Parts: sequence; structure tokens; C-alpha cells
Amino acid sequence: MKRVRLLVFNAALGVLDYRVPEGSEVEPGSIVIAPLGPRQVLGIAWEPERLSTGEVPDSKLRPFLEVLPVPPLDAKLRRLIEWTADYYCAPLSSVARMALGSMAALRGGGTTTEYRLTGEEPARLTPQRAAALDALQGEQASIRELAELASVSEGVLRGMVGAGLLEAVSVDLDRPYPPADPDFAVPDLSDDQRRAADTFVEAVREGKFAPFLLDGVTGSGKTETYFEAVAEAITLGKQVLVLLPEIALTENFLRRFEQRFGVPPVQWHSSLKSSERRRAWRAIVSGNAQVVVGARSALFLPYARFGLVIVDEAHEISFKQDDGVRYNARDVAVIRARFEQAPVILASATPALESMQLAEAGVYRKIDLPARFGGAQLPAIDIVDLRKEVPERGRWLAPRLVDQMKARLARGEQSLLFLNRRGYAPLTLCRNCGHRFQCPHCTAWLVEHRFSQRLACHHCGYEVPVPNTCPECGTGDCLVACGPGVERIADEVAEILPEARTALITSDTMNSPEAIAEFVAKAEGRAIDVIVGTQLVTKGYHFPELTLVGVVDADLGLEGGDLRAAERTYQQVAQVAGRAGRGEKPGEVLIQTRHPEAPVIAALAAGDRDAFYDAETEARRDAGAPPFGRWAAIIVSSEDMAEARDAARAIGGTAPDNPDMLVLGPAPAPLALLRGRHRFRLLINARRSAELQKVLRQWLDPLQFPRGVRVHIDVDPYSF
Ligand code: ADP
Ligand code: ZN
Repeated sequence: MKRVRLLVFNAALGVLDYRVPEGSEVEPGSIVIAPLGPRQVLGIAWEPERLSTGEVPDSKLRPFLEVLPVPPLDAKLRRLIEWTADYYCAPLSSVARMALGSMAALRGGGTTTEYRLTGEEPARLTPQRAAALDALQGEQASIRELAELASVSEGVLRGMVGAGLLEAVSVDLDRPYPPADPDFAVPDLSDDQRRAADTFVEAVREGKFAPFLLDGVTGSGKTETYFEAVAEAITLGKQVLVLLPEIALTENFLRRFEQRFGVPPVQWHSSLKSSERRRAWRAIVSGNAQVVVGARSALFLPYARFGLVIVDEAHEISFKQDDGVRYNARDVAVIRARFEQAPVILASATPALESMQLAEAGVYRKIDLPARFGGAQLPAIDIVDLRKEVPERGRWLAPRLVDQMKARLARGEQSLLFLNRRGYAPLTLCRNCGHRFQCPHCTAWLVEHRFSQRLACHHCGYEVPVPNTCPECGTGDCLVACGPGVERIADEVAEILPEARTALITSDTMNSPEAIAEFVAKAEGRAIDVIVGTQLVTKGYHFPELTLVGVVDADLGLEGGDLRAAERTYQQVAQVAGRAGRGEKPGEVLIQTRHPEAPVIAALAAGDRDAFYDAETEARRDAGAPPFGRWAAIIVSSEDMAEARDAARAIGGTAPDNPDMLVLGPAPAPLALLRGRHRFRLLINARRSAELQKVLRQWLDPLQFPRGVRVHIDVDPYSF
């Protein structure tokens, strides 16, 4: 009898042995369906010696049901999955699941059925059908997705199929993507760009592990440069993965890719509809997808011919996933490249200190693009000391910034105001009794959103309409907005520059590819004078007429004791400053601050990047912080505060006595209440030499907690 060891999904058990049924063949990496109790589950066949499980005698084993007709996950990917689970102290099956992308992609064959309107319009319709008819114009998707789009039940839509209003369409999931042409529009590279591109191309040809840090100032043409490596990979028939930190940047990337290679790349992100996802997955597995651009989840997919990975805006914190498997896609991309024997390019104008350190240590090869393309100059940066240059009462923009904006408007140039705070005001209170509006589920103030007339929690999504009276004292018309959000800044712009055409760019307004495309078209077409935005506007965009950037509050990110506060402030301000003066006209940046003497602000003002990195390096060295030491966080949560606290204390009480580790806490986590769960935290600061993961596992694995308690480990946490 043949046995097989499976890594099983949606089972707490994780690893189970099965019998291989007569006539079946499995090899490590095969994806199979197996019975578990009354249910069926997916599993991946794994080398038995690499996974431990209880010894079950042959006679007790159940046979699995079938091997799915998709290629097995190869050994390189299996080792990557093991590495990731090990490093981030995550369950192996949770990591492996990311390789599958979607269960739907696996089941079913190469076709699926979608539905679309037939164009039939009967005289009489129920209100629901009428609404669906309206909402579904031009759409084609599964019944479930259409129901969601039209906000009606699936039953309504099935009824419409019966009535001939919707028709089924068979979709071929294996229709090939049009091939990219490496020679479609080859740019003339500058000398610096040429040198960089040649190095990358050479590395793609060699097909060995080669990590690069592409350190190029904003506007230096990093994308053009790494596109040459992409072209080489396409020529050689190798697949390329490009990771972007946010979907918002994808639109811009797709366009540039198409200009360079004649067709768009294959996309992978959470807002794909299911047939697109399945099609992409199948093309990735078969090797038909030449270039995949995606969010971090694209990193674990089973590429047939992995040849190159690029992490653009590699410093971005959104590469760190902060739920489920808490991994950093930037770091795992390097590991994947190592297992796959492929080059990896981390591109950034403001590399993370960790990346700089690795380059200095010779682990990464650093490639510099020190100048903007086409002779464009980096913008002049100036400080507005808000203690001396005071905005008018009830306003947030200093007179000098306002004057500069007026001058831009008069010349037909664009200004951009950056404030990393969504909504109208971060805090709302009652003028009469001082009541502050707080989220019932989180330790957070509710943020007023004036356009939608709601108070919203930015952590859990809780929302209420803005009340007319104070719920505490009953006074009417008493609410006061404290502090600015971007909506309030947009209001201020409307008051001081009434004739300006203003665009407000936040995740509230830029929530679809269409909205982003429309904004970009307007900004490029000079139909926008002033852009007011959150971190969404800080990167990727290239608007030649944009000559003034105002940073409304540079101190915002420096508040709170975050380990990376200074670095993040530096990156955000440098990136947003990089939007100015990218065309022929020079750019200017005004940074509003109350702390011009803070090292990060001073370094920004002086345009002295090295000064910033040096100061930050010293501070980190003193604190034993990364890259000199390591951090891990243990977060303990429960709906019951005492239960969470007791569990956290129990963990603290069994902390190992290890000279290479310092355990801090437990203490209430910075968000002590999140989505209705009380949270406590322990922080571990370890020397680089400590075997952190091993110690953590030995410490936590034997502990038992009540059912309602969740314990998770965050290795290399980003913020805490
Ligand atoms: P970065 O990513 O470094 O900020 P980009 O790749 O966005 O820079 O390039 C900035 C602008 O300069 C883009 O509009 C790009 O098309 C243009 N550009 C850069 N290099 C070249 C080149 N060699 N030929 C033509 N245009 C270029
Ligand atoms: Zn909340």
C-alpha cells in the first residue's frame, strides 16, 4: 500500500496521511482532494520526511479522492513555502494556500460560464430587475459577482436568466494572452541608465541569484531601466514578476508597460473578478503569462519559468502584510529569487535603511541613478516654520504657501498639497460638553467625512451619520471639527483660490481603476490646478506641469513612538517632493513644520540624504533596532479583556532566560481595542545572533490558551 503525506487546508491539523488509491500517481507538490470527516478538503502532497505527524497505521488510512489536473508545485516553491512559514512563525498550510491563489482556479477545467444582459427590455419590470438592468450594462461575470455589483440577490438574477434578460456565455480560461514584444518601443537610454540596464540584462541572461538595489532619484527613469531586463526575460522565454505596493499604482504601470511592449501585462490582485483570476493563474502555471504585475500575493504563485522579480517602490510599508501570514514581500522576493536562481531588483528613490545596509555589506549590488532623466532638476526644498509663519485663524496653509499657489495658478501650473490624513477632521467633539466621538470597537476617534456626512473609524470601518445633536448632552448644532484632514484642506483651497479646479485624491475617492485613470487624464490634460491628497499621490505620478508641492504637516508622522517614524517621514516627504518639477519647469517644495530642527526635517531641507541615513543609522544602532538588532511582537487578543490580559501575562511569565533577548511587556497594544478585541503585546528585542524564531516556537508552542484567545507573532514588525 502506498501512503502520501498531505499538507491540508482549512483544517487545524495541517498535516495528515492518506492512502494513495489504486491506479493513482502522486508526487510531491501534487494538489489533491481528500476526505476529512464528512467534508472534502484540498491538500498538497509533501515529502513525508519534512513534515511530522502522528503515526497512523496503514489500516486506518482513508484514500484520497483525486489528483487535480494541474502541475505539481515544484521543489523550489515548496522550499520557499517552508522558509516563509519558518521565518515568520506561521502555519505551513497558511503560506501554502497563497501559492494556490484561489481554490476556484484549481477546481473545474479550462472553461467557465459568465452572464451578461441580452439587451431585451420588457415593458414591465419589477423594481429589482429594473435596478439590475441598469447596474449591469456592459458587465459580464458570474451570477455571484453580478449580484454583488447590482446589489440584488442571486435569486433575482437567476429569475432574469429564466426570463431571457440575462444570457450565459462560455468563457475559455486558457485563451492565451497576447505576446509582449520586447522590441515594440525601445527607448534611448542615458549613459547611466544604459549601464544599469546592461547589468540587469546580463544578470537575466546568466540566470543566477543576483540581488540588486536600484537606487535612483525620483524621475531618474528606474522603470525604463528595469524594463530592459524585462525585455531580455521575454526574449529568453522567462517569466517576470513585478510587485507594486498598491493597486492605485497599477493603472500607471499598465499604461507604461503597454507603451513599451505593445500589450498590457497580466494582472494579479484582489479586485480581479474570478474568471480573470482563474485565467491568470492558469497562464502563470503554464508559462503563458510572460509578465505578471501584482500585489504582494502574486509572490507565492507557481510560475512555470520564473526568471526575474522586480519590487518597485521597495521601501513601501504596504509590502508588509499585517494579518494572516505576517510576511514582508520585499524580503521574501529576495528569498524566492535565491531559490529560483534568478535576479531580483529592488527599486526605490528612498530605500529602506535595511536595504541600504545590505548594499553596504555587499549582499545587494547597488546600482545608482543619481540624476533625473532629460536634465530635469530636483526641486528646491524650503521650510515653512509654522511657529513664525502662522496661517490665518482657522486655516492650515501658511501665507507663503498660499502666495506660491496663487502664483502657480496665475501661470497655469499645478500645485499639490500633501497631508496623510483622510476625511475632514481627525477628531470631532461637542462644544458644550466636550464629548469626543469614539469608535465603539476600537481605541480610535471617529473621523468626520464631510462629503459623505459620516463619522468613520479608519481601523474597522464602523460608520455613523454625523449626528445633529450631541449624544451626551443633547445640545444641537454643537459639533466642532478639530484639526485638518484632506477634505478640510480642499475646502480651504476652495476659499483661498475659488477659481482653481481642485482634485481630492484619497482612498475614499480613488476606489476604482476608472477613477484613477480619469484623474490622471485630467491632471495630464491640465484640467486640474490643485491636487490635494494623502500618501496615494506621493508616488508613481508624472505630471509635467506640477511645479509646487506643499507638505501641510511634516510633523504628523513623527508623533507617536514608532520605530520607523523618522524613516517613514523622510520617505513620504522625499517621494511627494519628487512629484515636483519633473518636466521642463523647475519645481519647488514647501514643508510646513513646527520642528525644523528635527534631524529628518533638517536633512530634507538641506537635500542631504546621506545626513539622514547617517543619523538614522546611529539612532538604530543605539536602540539595537533593525538592521543592527531584531524585533518581534507577540500580540494576544480576546473579546474579553481579562482573558487577553491573563493570557499575555502567562506568556510573559514563561519568557525564556536568554542573554540575547530582551522581553518587554506585556502592555496594552497601541490599538488596545481593535474590531472589538482587546489586545496586549509583548515586544522582543533580540541580537542578530539570537535564534529568534526557534526561541519563540519553543516558548509559545507548549502554552495552552482559552478558546477565545488568539496569539500571533509578528517577526520584523513594521509599526508598533
Ligand atoms: P522614476 O521611476 O525613477 O521616478 P520614471 O521611470 O517614472 O522615473 O521616469 C520619469 C519620466 O522620464 C517618465 O515619464 C519616463 O517615461 C521618462 N524617461 C525616463 N527615461 C527615459 C528615456 N530613456 N527615454 C525617454 N523617456 C524617459
Ligand atoms: Zn473601529
